[in-house]
Amino acid sequence: MRTLLADHPLVTHKLTLLRDARIDTATFRALADELVTLLAYEATREVRVTEVTVTTPVGTAPGAMLAQPKPLIVPVLRAGIGMLGGMTRLLPMASVGFVGMVRDEESLVASTYANRLPADLTGREVFVLDPMLATGGTLVTVIRMLADRGAASVTAICLLAAPEGLARLDQAFPGDRSPAVRVVTGAVDERLNDKGYIIPGLGDAGDRLFGEI
Ligand code: URA
Repeated sequence: MRTLLADHPLVTHKLTLLRDARIDTATFRALADELVTLLAYEATREVRVTEVTVTTPVGTAPGAMLAQPKPLIVPVLRAGIGMLGGMTRLLPMASVGFVGMVRDEESLVASTYANRLPADLTGREVFVLDPMLATGGTLVTVIRMLADRGAASVTAICLLAAPEGLARLDQAFPGDRSPAVRVVTGAVDERLNDKGYIIPGLGDAGDRLFGEI
């Protein structure tokens, strides 16, 4: 498992604003959307392309276009939905699948309540959107679902990550096995607290994006 820390000044700037407990839901949503687009730029650095030739008004030029099969984007419900617009802005041609996961607040174990994924992902590059990589339980489950369907690579895009979650993913997906797994994140924070929240983090990403329900 590879981790890419996108420590670009604009990423850090937006993440710093996002952490601030005083910002309202609308501002949080707009910032998260912008931040995801920046992370998506880093996350798609190795996306597969096909070489093409394009005819310009005055000649021909070599170029490259995204290869087939098209990438798949998988936001993890609920909070991952807040990242979808920022991601499809860069990959408008990608398909979108959905996985719904809910975490038991006592045991911190995540269970699946929704699954709308293609049955066959052979050769597909998949981008999973989950704002907070905390214990890693959710991402391990989702990546296994994608691996079982034959995904060639899985890149998880997370606004923030905890060292505990990164270690768990690394253990679950050692580098020499398929699919190739990568995490792209804006920051790696200190630790998890006893409720599984990232410290200092930004609180409950779902609540901050969509309000407490
Ligand atoms: N999920 C969140 O929304 N926040 C955390 O800090 C951890 C998990």
